[in-house]
This record gives sequence, structure tokens and C-alpha cells, in this order.
Amino acid sequence: MSRVDLPRLRRPRVCRATGRRATGPVLAFALCSLIAAPSPAPSPVPEGPAGAAATAQAPTAATDLLATTGLRTTGAAQVAPAAMHPQPLDPGDGPLLRTLGTGAPADPQASAWRAAADDPASTLVVVDKRRPLDPEDFVPADLRGASGVLLRADASDAFLALAAAAEAAGVPVRAQSGYRSFVDQQVTYHRWQRELGDARADEQSARPGHSEHQTGLALDVLPRGGACQAFGCFGATPQAAWLAAHAAEYGFVVRYQDGQEPVTGYTAEPWHLRYVGVAAASALAASGARSIEEYLGLPAAPTY
Ligand SMILES: [Zn+2]
Repeated sequence: MSRVDLPRLRRPRVCRATGRRATGPVLAFALCSLIAAPSPAPSPVPEGPAGAAATAQAPTAATDLLATTGLRTTGAAQVAPAAMHPQPLDPGDGPLLRTLGTGAPADPQASAWRAAADDPASTLVVVDKRRPLDPEDFVPADLRGASGVLLRADASDAFLALAAAAEAAGVPVRAQSGYRSFVDQQVTYHRWQRELGDARADEQSARPGHSEHQTGLALDVLPRGGACQAFGCFGATPQAAWLAAHAAEYGFVVRYQDGQEPVTGYTAEPWHLRYVGVAAASALAASGARSIEEYLGLPAAPTY
């Protein structure tokens, strides 16, 4: 090492990941800054047969429909498998590290949301394939009926308001599926495991503890009346267009949007609404982000 190099090493080093001055060894600083380096973009389509199936078929309701009905559909109405299959987690790809490294947005709404994202009792809890509920058998305390499904109280009130507005706009909707318990999901998922094996079970059904429906804050909707009464045709309905434009006004996020599979782990589900409250949903919509993960700077969750 030359004498010229020494003063440079003595200068304060600021970690790009944390924004803090690094006081430890050079190696620690190097690792810290390495965390800040952008992660490689996830593959737009998971590898293997599951991914091929997903690209060959239209967006589907695989997880929702099958977990809701517990039935395997056949014929023209058969749902295509969602593009998901297990792959080993990268130990260096944990939520904290990736969150720091993605340069999470600095707006106060996002900060408040991130602070509540791990709390299963919060209306801001974030659940995806890498963020199971904790505890995994969590049961919301304030479930109640709304249009024939169970939802948490705030989500229930909000959905009734949304449904009234949709009706007034000439695009009436109904709730098809709401709260789903850990046991409901366990039974469905394990049946698929027995019939198809682990990998294909993950294509067909969310694992217990990983479904947004278990939060009591998510529901699936279909048109009330009209020709389309299935998820497979919902995306082309005026109801879907209305929800995409107005759901946030009632506190809902259209959770699984087209083209977001590498982030959310699900093919487009324009019928799946997630309640987060008007402030959060509006802030997300205004940001231009197309997923909760993107808005909060959380790690992508394409697989378990
Ligand atoms: Zn759903």
C-alpha cells in the first residue's frame, strides 16, 4: 500500500445501504455497500414447466378459485396453474437486506406502512410468498359478514361503500370469497400435495399462512349479474376497469396486477382486492407503483 492511499482510507466511509458512517473494518464497510448494490431483476417468468404453463395461458384465478371452492375445474373453465414453484431461498436475499438495498421511498405514508407490515392485526400487514403471517395460524379478531363473506370490520365497511358506488356507476359487483382460515387453506393445500406432489401443489394453491385471504382484509369480486360470472372473463368486464380506477378511493388495492408476477408471485387477478385504508391505497396509487412490494421497497416474492 502506498502512502498516497492511506489518507483516502482514513476518510469517513458512508455505507450506501444505511446512509450511516461506517466505523468498523474496511471489510464491514465493503459488505454494507455491497448490500446497496441493486439486485438482479427477477426473471419475468419462473423457469420450468410451471412458467411455461403460465405464459401459455391467460391470467387465472388458480389460487383464489381453487382454494375457495376446493374443487378441481375441468374443461373450458379450467384454470391454468399460477406460475409458482419452490426454489431455495438465497440466504443473502432476506427482507431486511433487500429493503435497505432497494432505496425504499421516503414518503411518510410508506414509512408508516412499512412499520406495520409485519403486524398481522394491522390493516397494513403485508403477506406474500416470502412474508407469511406470524403466527401462521393468525385469526383476525373482528371478522363479520359483508355481502355473504367474512371480512374484518374496516374492510367490510369499505367494501359495502365500494359496492354501492360501483352499483351507482352501473357496474355492480358482489363478493365471491373473503376470509379464509389457516385450516381451510391447509386442507386445500394438502389435498393438492397428495394428488400432485409438492411442486404442482404450489402451482395450484397458496400455502397455509401465506394467503392474503387469511388476513380478513382481502376479497375476490365478480360482476353482480351479466354474462361474466367467473374469474377467467372478469378482466374484460367494465367492473374490472372501474375497480382499477376507483378501488383506492375506498381503501382497496388491486393486489395482483398484470405483469407483476415476478414481484407478487401471482398472475394477474383483477378481481382480488386488498383493503389497506384510503390513505395507504391512495398513496400507493399516486406513487405509480403497481404492487405493495414495489411501493414499500420490500423484496420481490416470486416464489416461496
Ligand atoms: Zn383472492
